[in-house]
Amino acid sequence: MKRTTLRHAVGPASFVLVALVCWFVSGLVADRMVQQELDGALRQQRQMSSSIVYNMAEVIASDLAMSRAIPATMAELGVIQQALSHAGNFAALGPDAEPSHRNELLTMPELAAVNNFLHDAQGFSGLDIIWLVNANGLCVAASNAHSPQSFIGLDMRSRSYLTNALLGAFGEAYGVGRMSGEPGIFISAPVYDDGLLVGAIVAKVGIARLRHWVAHAGTFVTDDNGVIIMAHNAALEGEAMPNSRVTQMSAAERMATYHREVFPAVQIQPVTRRGLRDARWVPDNIAAQLFEMPGQTVPTLYQSRSGLNSGLSAHLVDPLAAWSELLRNHRRDHMLVFLTLAGTVSLAWVITVSYLRERRHHRATRDLAEQLQAANTLLSAEARHDALTGALSRRYFLDLLRHEIDRAHATGEPLCMAIADLDHFKQINDRFGHAAGDRALEHFVDTCRTELRGSDAIGRLGGEEFGILLPGTALGAGLEVVERLRVGLKAMPCAKLPATAGLSVSIGITELSPDDLPERIVSRADLALYAAKSGGRDRSAAVPPDDTAPPARTPATAL
Ligand code: GH3
Ligand code: MG
Ligand code: MG
Repeated sequence: MKRTTLRHAVGPASFVLVALVCWFVSGLVADRMVQQELDGALRQQRQMSSSIVYNMAEVIASDLAMSRAIPATMAELGVIQQALSHAGNFAALGPDAEPSHRNELLTMPELAAVNNFLHDAQGFSGLDIIWLVNANGLCVAASNAHSPQSFIGLDMRSRSYLTNALLGAFGEAYGVGRMSGEPGIFISAPVYDDGLLVGAIVAKVGIARLRHWVAHAGTFVTDDNGVIIMAHNAALEGEAMPNSRVTQMSAAERMATYHREVFPAVQIQPVTRRGLRDARWVPDNIAAQLFEMPGQTVPTLYQSRSGLNSGLSAHLVDPLAAWSELLRNHRRDHMLVFLTLAGTVSLAWVITVSYLRERRHHRATRDLAEQLQAANTLLSAEARHDALTGALSRRYFLDLLRHEIDRAHATGEPLCMAIADLDHFKQINDRFGHAAGDRALEHFVDTCRTELRGSDAIGRLGGEEFGILLPGTALGAGLEVVERLRVGLKAMPCAKLPATAGLSVSIGITELSPDDLPERIVSRADLALYAAKSGGRDRSAAVPPDDTAPPARTPATAL
């Protein structure tokens, strides 16, 4: 990636975009995490709610079974049957006849004994009141006979709970007592004497005695008309389930049974998306299992159980206990996952950028190193060779000389060194120009390459003076070689110089002595050159290894 692209990529817009994507993705992850927690919490709480409603239903059923057993058993007793047979002649003649009936009934000795019996039975049975109604629908005896609220003498035909009993069957209904105003469950059983229906025995169980049914928070009980007759939260009592049967009853019927006409519908509705606006992560299938109630901020579970053999139903509205913790967990998970994700992305970004930068840096360094090496190679080649003629440089030639001396000493092979100096070179420059002089120098070196072996070396010692090394060559052979060179230079005139230039060279040569030093062999070659120059130039001269001997001269004319 180019540097400009990198800089562009880490701009503020990219940063915000990456952060937004991380936030969105971490939201999805947090949703999944909390959804699983919600699922578990819901399953656990539903189990608990189910067992609460189940237990509640069991208690209701067993309490009612016990309450039903009392009038059913008493209906079998002779004292009850005979009392109703005795009072069988009293007709229900409406409210006007009630006071006289009451007085008459209270003074009948047969019935006084029954009243006492009923009073005792009520005392140990835990029922509110027990009373007898003859086949005409008139109350003839009661456990509270002497109370002003006693039903004795009352025409009770309009009581719904008596309808079945006076037809010979058991009856049971919830209602609010017309005399007491107290709600309760009225249970009635038919009474037969010698096979004849002589009336009914009725027992009332006051709701106050049954409040343990709704001991658990959120519980309530409805009757078969859908009216809440008892609730842990007393404010719900008197409300009705939506679209329940009470809404179809006439006002008179409602008044007769409940002493009230208005039954507000209890507001238990499936939770809406608006109700879950703080928790959009709740999936649809779970939202469908939750309910909401006015004033309730927490989604609730709703369970009910009907068919308790009494027309009553048990209900539980149970706010989701883990709700606030789940909301907290979602916020926490969202933040934690975001930080982890953003950290990982940032780290990956830093690593990638560092890697790309490092790679670019590495490439640049490698290119630089290659350039440096090429330059070094060039420099070293330039240092080893003379730029004009291509002969070895002075320094390299002298190094080579030292090396060849050591080698010759080590192997015992002979070694010759010569110094060649172009004759009257200054005049060539003067006559034909400095450039022509340069061509003459190049030409001399080319001639050396032609005449010498590949193993011989030629170096420019300075100006128009050249050193020549002839390894493995003794002085006699060496002198022949340099002579051949001198003659060859004259025989092959330089094409780039005028024919009148007349290039010639003087050469001094010597051979390495045992225990010789580089300075001494150079000095002897110089001495030989001097001899050649002073001998008239255009010739070769040799100084033997033993420098005490006089230099041998080879006149040009002789060769
Ligand atoms: P001799 O026969 O005694 O050697 O006389 P010479 O003229 O050759 O010797 P001298 O030392 O007087 O002159 C050498 C000349 O070589 C002087 C200098 O200008 C010339 N010279 C040295 N280096 C170069 C070079 O690289 N190119 C050219 N064209 N001339 C050079
Ligand atoms: Mg010279
Ligand atoms: Mg010269």
